Amino acid sequence: TEEVEKIKPEFVRSFQFENKLMPSTWIVIRIDGCHFHRFSEVHEFEKPNDKQALNLMNSCAVAVLEEIQDIIFTYGVSDEYSFVLKKDSQFYQRRASEIVSVTVSFFSSMYVMKWKEFFPQKELKYPPSFDGRVVCYPSSKILLDYLAWRQVDCHINNQYNTCFWMLVKKKGKSKSEAQHYLKGTQAKEKNELLIKEFGIDYNELEIMFRQGSLAFWQKEDKNMTHESKGSVQNSLKKVIVEHCDIIKPNFWEAHPSILD
Ligand code: ATP
Ligand code: ATP
Ligand code: MG
Ligand code: MG
Ligand code: MG
Ligand code: MG
Repeated sequence: TEEVEKIKPEFVRSFQFENKLMPSTWIVIRIDGCHFHRFSEVHEFEKPNDKQALNLMNSCAVAVLEEIQDIIFTYGVSDEYSFVLKKDSQFYQRRASEIVSVTVSFFSSMYVMKWKEFFPQKELKYPPSFDGRVVCYPSSKILLDYLAWRQVDCHINNQYNTCFWMLVKKKGKSKSEAQHYLKGTQAKEKNELLIKEFGIDYNELEIMFRQGSLAFWQKEDKNMTHESKGSVQNSLKKVIVEHCDIIKPNFWEAHPSILD
């Protein structure tokens, strides 16, 4: 007891540092699977794109959206997902480490819980983990630039991976041969390779592979026949998952309520 009395809580607490995110800015949390190159091999994901693995990621993202009410938009590709919190969110008083850790741990738990639903025939061989980071964007313009950057990345990687795996699977090239073959090629050359060698029109590949996935709350039409109780407003919201271009302004013009 003598030892315990020596501990001064104020002193110990004084080592903690302030980690509040800038007020009135869009908070973006991006999570990314740790070593998913290996995880996808161990679990025999279809290459270049395992559709069920992407559907599992999307389903976990929807669960996060439903859990954390301040999330207004989310965009995902491959083993990553970005979650956008509304500008004036007071989630965890905007403390960075709490916001990141609760998001990433909830997502990871969901991934494990839902695994069987998406891979009923595959055993989960080891527990996957995700890392997370958080960034604040001060204007909607820069936020949309961020999201565009992720979608451009999706496109570039998918085009490369599609060529790479075609060379490996259909032309019998080794991985290092395929890598060497594609080194320095431009987007146009890759599209030509796909057409000429494999008869693949890049633009006809599955849209989820080319553009990634987005999810957001959609308010359903008020004049639907549901008006029995007073609090219908809330129950008329649901999360929808789409695959479309978020680089051009069209999507944002069609959904002005997401950012307002
Ligand atoms: P790090 O821990 O640094 O993130 P990583 O191995 O996860 O390393 P990433 O750059 O995040 O590297 O890339 C994720 C990798 O996971 C992809 O390159 C791909 O090999 C694999 N992967 C993720 N999702 C899928 C999927 N749906 N289908 C096939 N492969 C996938
Ligand atoms: P917060 O989200 O703010 O952390 P909390 O409900 O998790 O809220 P804590 O202060 O972290 O609150 O306290 C954890 C609570 O969980 C305890 O008060 C107790 O009720 C419960 N709990 C945790 N571990 C045990 C345990 N081993 N046996 C019984 N109850 C437990
Ligand atoms: Mg990473
Ligand atoms: Mg990763
Ligand atoms: Mg990644
Ligand atoms: Mg607790």
